[in-house]
Amino acid sequence: MKKIRFGLQARFLTAMAIMLAVVIALLATLLHRQKDMQQEVADATRDSMHSMVEDSLRRHGEASVNQLADSLTNPLYYFDLDTIGKLVRSAQLEPDVSYVLVFDPQGRIIHDGTEEIAVYGQQMSDPLAYEAVSTPNLHIQWSPQIVDISEPIMIGNERIGGVRVGFSLASVRAHEDRAVTAAKSRLEELGRRHLVWVAALLAALVVACVAIMLYAQRTLVRPIRQLAAAAHAIEVGNYNSERPVSHRRDEVGELVRAFSSMSDSIARHDRDVRRMAYTDSLTGLTNRLAFRESLDHRLMMLRGAGRQLALLFADIDDFKRVNDTLGHEAGDEVLQQFANRILEAVELLGGDDALLARFGGDEFVILIQDGDVRAAATRLAEKLVTELGRPIVIQDRQVFLGTSIGITLFPEDASGATALMKNGDIAMYQAKVAGKNCYRFYSRAMDQAVERRVRMEQELRGAWERGELSLLYQPVFRLSDSRIVGAEALLRWQHPELGMVAPSVFIDVAEQSGLIETIGPRVLRAACAAAARWSADRDPMDQLFVSVNVSPRQLRSGDLPEVVAECLRETGLTSSRLHLELTETAVISDEAHASALLATLHRTGVKVWLDDFGTGFSGLSHLRRVPVDGVKIDRSFIADMLRDPDDLALTSAIIAMAHSLGITVVAEGVEKEGQFNMLRERGCDLAQGYWLGYPVTAAEFNQLIV
Ligand code: C2E
Ligand code: MG
Ligand code: MG
Repeated sequence: MKKIRFGLQARFLTAMAIMLAVVIALLATLLHRQKDMQQEVADATRDSMHSMVEDSLRRHGEASVNQLADSLTNPLYYFDLDTIGKLVRSAQLEPDVSYVLVFDPQGRIIHDGTEEIAVYGQQMSDPLAYEAVSTPNLHIQWSPQIVDISEPIMIGNERIGGVRVGFSLASVRAHEDRAVTAAKSRLEELGRRHLVWVAALLAALVVACVAIMLYAQRTLVRPIRQLAAAAHAIEVGNYNSERPVSHRRDEVGELVRAFSSMSDSIARHDRDVRRMAYTDSLTGLTNRLAFRESLDHRLMMLRGAGRQLALLFADIDDFKRVNDTLGHEAGDEVLQQFANRILEAVELLGGDDALLARFGGDEFVILIQDGDVRAAATRLAEKLVTELGRPIVIQDRQVFLGTSIGITLFPEDASGATALMKNGDIAMYQAKVAGKNCYRFYSRAMDQAVERRVRMEQELRGAWERGELSLLYQPVFRLSDSRIVGAEALLRWQHPELGMVAPSVFIDVAEQSGLIETIGPRVLRAACAAAARWSADRDPMDQLFVSVNVSPRQLRSGDLPEVVAECLRETGLTSSRLHLELTETAVISDEAHASALLATLHRTGVKVWLDDFGTGFSGLSHLRRVPVDGVKIDRSFIADMLRDPDDLALTSAIIAMAHSLGITVVAEGVEKEGQFNMLRERGCDLAQGYWLGYPVTAAEFNQLIV
């Protein structure tokens, strides 16, 4: 529901309405005041007319009464009624005169202008009579209809009578009324004209208000609404919506332009952020997030369309070794070169819709969906295994790395993205288990393999207590005289169902689960105890050594020197007869820590050998920095020594280098007489291998050395 709000326009409207209301109220009071004023003017006009008329009436009346009184003095003295009558009648002829009365000093009428004087001698008894008779001077009395002016008639100081003239006010009043009415109508006319003006003014005001409203709507409200709409579009992520444009030179124009450039830069930032969020910064490939989104989208499109899709999970074999031994920069370079090779292969064989992503670390994922995906995935996987198996040159050094690839298919293996990715991981893991540098299609059986691994971990726990773990001893020979000089202790697991399990199968599980930290010291103790028994009746020069494999995790835990010392003390084995085999990578990945540890071990007299030497690219130069007593050349070099001149050269170089540093060299995996002879010619010190002797039980080994 749209919320009703008190917007800018509504406020403008309200302000205008209030203003109009105030103006109208003002005008209304003004008009009202005008009515009052008209009344007041009319009244004032009437009053002034009144006093003017009365004034002139009085003056005129006074003059004529005064003159009449003068003219009547003699005729009254002589009581000449005829003359008095004439004078009275002529006075009566004057306008507005309603009566003329001549009276004696007692107020009795002497003449009223008539021929017969019917009222002669009558006492005047009207209300005005008393004052008229008794006044010593000219006297005026007003009644509503009449103005009575009287004056005594005197001879010397003697009053001989008086005269009264009554002027009628009727005509004066009528005159007055006419004048007032005329004035009033003039005023009303004026008022009407005013009203017209006021109305026109009001109309103009309303028109002005409407115009202002429209102007504000056009210049303010509309652009602001457009800006708000555009801002909202940006807020919801719609950067392509139309931008408001303005060519105006005012503040609103500036605002619109500023907004426009702001939204451009927001869009640009958004693109950058998106690019950063969706690409892997090292290789420039799609990253996990973007891949996952794309996979979800494609699965949605494919579902029900009867089409297939394949995911290839490629993981570089032993990539950690590169990082550990050559450093992270070299590791990054390897990843970049790998990414390029994978990209080339994908472009060649992956089809148009293929998608390549780096999932972080050394894991690459490829999606293909064109044609027969199983066949295409197989071709691509084969190509990748060969391409990525070719040596890489890093820091002027050739590095051999392999890749293990797991493949899973939609919809056969799973229909959801999460399940597909899990399957790919499992298949890849199986490729690793199968010996690395190969590919595997996912199968339901693999889930069981994963389960087996979990079960193995559970079963391995407590295996030592149950007596399932035991040690075999592989004799180590001196090449110069082919005599046994010692043995390597190798762990075996007598599984209740599986039989003898080799450490290559379970050591990894023990290592990853941390079980090795409890198993390792037990192996060490058992090996020392066995070795202590071998030499009881041998001469001191001919004492046999035992070499024990130590896992990187044991090395990292830090308490190795104490554990070793304790074992030696408990079993009474001379320290020089114990050799520890550490893997090259474990030592080199943390050189400082390892060097300190090795130094401590050395002080106790224990010897340290580097196992599987040559597989970790550590190079011979590392031997100078790490204080070891011997190196064991990895059996992969020995195996190919007779066929591959490179391996022979490397083996020879290791021997020469080690000897120059005063280090013993042991060859592992001697399976043929030719290898044995060749090693002896090159001056190798010690050797072990199936041709010389298989790993045997402690009892069997005792038989060998008597
Ligand atoms: P490693 O230390 O290099 O041990 C030598 C391996 O080569 C042993 O395998 C041995 O049986 C095998 N071998 C000996 N001569 C020949 C030969 O002529 N040809 C071939 N192909 N192989 C030969 P194993 O016993 O399966 O041990 C595998 C690895 O497991 C060992 O490699 C070692 O790294 C590890 N391991 C064995 N026992 C222990 C242990 O007690 N603790 C630890 N941490 N690791 C152990
Ligand atoms: Mg070993
Ligand atoms: Mg070895």
